[in-house]
Amino acid sequence: MRATLTVLGSGTSMGVPTIGCACAVCRSTDPRDKRTRPSVKLDFTDQMGAPRTIVIDTSPDFRAQALRENVTRVDAVLFTHAHADHILGLDDIRAFNFHQRARIPVYANAPALDTIRKTFHYIFDEAPAPSAIPLIDLHEVRGPIELFGATFTPVPVFHGKLEVLGYLFGRNAYLTDFNVIPEASLPMLHSLDVLFLDALRDAAHNTHCTIAEALDYAARLAPKAAYFTHMNHEVSHAAVSERLPAGVFLSYDGLKLEVEL
Ligand SMILES: [Zn+2]
Ligand SMILES: [Zn+2]
Repeated sequence: MRATLTVLGSGTSMGVPTIGCACAVCRSTDPRDKRTRPSVKLDFTDQMGAPRTIVIDTSPDFRAQALRENVTRVDAVLFTHAHADHILGLDDIRAFNFHQRARIPVYANAPALDTIRKTFHYIFDEAPAPSAIPLIDLHEVRGPIELFGATFTPVPVFHGKLEVLGYLFGRNAYLTDFNVIPEASLPMLHSLDVLFLDALRDAAHNTHCTIAEALDYAARLAPKAAYFTHMNHEVSHAAVSERLPAGVFLSYDGLKLEVEL
């Protein structure tokens, strides 16, 4: 099954440009240096001929991303983890409840579900809501998820001490917010078609890969194409792209890739 993967956002938690910063990348006129918070979506047609859209993470920029990319439906949301830059757009899922007249399934690991319940307590409070709230059903990810004929396999990775889920779909994987891929997850990730990797910046960080660390993973896992994401304002798209080896690219907001599910 063919699918189109769209990068909704390729930036780190504060986005690029960063508020109040006048550095060269924050002032860059290259559209690839404008990075909203990290998220991707997949669009495909299911076996019944129905269009399907699956979103991985709902960033604080979700509304703007959905308008920019003309997102007309959301059939499921998969969360990698529940840090603010990955979940705070969840309230805007309401628009899709209205259009689709349906509840939307949401998938995350147990700690992320816990944070989602606390952060969006008004969704789960028993009291009648005074105004529209997201209509979602939470599901704990315990293994591969079947969605409309496509399989999404969770890939545990470590973001410092926090376990974050990457997702494998077909011969492609989206891994963000990690600095360590544990040994047990590596066999799932060899020789993929497309592999997204966290690559925050050049300087060391204790919960994100640097560009050098992401390059090491790309060399070790040997995908046909590796795309870096979650980049901060120290990463100039043009300058850093020049020093990447063949088959490794910086992703950017609005990038579209054809993948096989
Ligand atoms: Zn993040
Ligand atoms: Zn800056």
